[in-house]
Amino acid sequence: MNQRKLKDLFESHESTDPMPVLFVGHGNPMNAIEENEFVLNWRTLGRSIPRPKAILCISAHWETNGTFVTAMPRPSTIHDFGGFPQKLYDVQYPAPGSPELAFEVKHNVMSATVGLDEKWGLDHGSWSVIRNIYPEADIPVIELSMDYNLTPMKHYELAKELVQFRKKGILIIGSGNIVHNLRMISWEHANEPEFGFDWALRANEIFESLILDNNLKDLINYHALGREVQMAVPSPDHFIPLLYALALKRENESTLFFNDKLVMGSLSMTSMRIG
Ligand code: ZN
Repeated sequence: MNQRKLKDLFESHESTDPMPVLFVGHGNPMNAIEENEFVLNWRTLGRSIPRPKAILCISAHWETNGTFVTAMPRPSTIHDFGGFPQKLYDVQYPAPGSPELAFEVKHNVMSATVGLDEKWGLDHGSWSVIRNIYPEADIPVIELSMDYNLTPMKHYELAKELVQFRKKGILIIGSGNIVHNLRMISWEHANEPEFGFDWALRANEIFESLILDNNLKDLINYHALGREVQMAVPSPDHFIPLLYALALKRENESTLFFNDKLVMGSLSMTSMRIG
């Protein structure tokens, strides 16, 4: 990342502007409690944007039959992973929910019937990132699920309807990973700060170039982008949150990449701030 990008990324925004939109590559759940350059950038990012009234997160880890929004006043911290140290299971992120915002989302989204959910909570796609950005846990967080019956185009259309919330002080975060192939993970490179297979690096480049060109058509039809991309996105779950973030970009808004690195061969931490 060049110096200009870094400066732009961390510059403050006027509070009257629509809130920025984030896509965050969340990577390993241990990022919730580890110190590394990725989480340091998340924290710095949090200090550089206006304090949101609430956060709406689209997490790779909440796919459902139908579209739902968490509507409980006190969402639980869900430890939706296995085989990690106890200290990660001990983490709680006690941010409040916002039944009011959930209700508003339900009533303002027309392209899908949005159900109010009382059972989910915050999965690690949201809390592992948000606890770094807002460690005080004093900003309400709700999640919007991804309906696994929808095509990428339908997700994109639904996401566009959320744009109104940017002007209401809501920080919308898509949390996934652009390149995410767990079957190809290289454990022998697990402790390196940066390592990407050639195909994964190439796929990451293809996606960045399409994002900078605002080529939503190709991004939505990512299945047709060739072998490297098919290896990078073997299932839609970690990719679709990117489409949610991109759908909220207004004309002439800038897109700034950060944490633009591959780890463990087949996982990109590439993240971006829009606006
Ligand atoms: Zn994940």
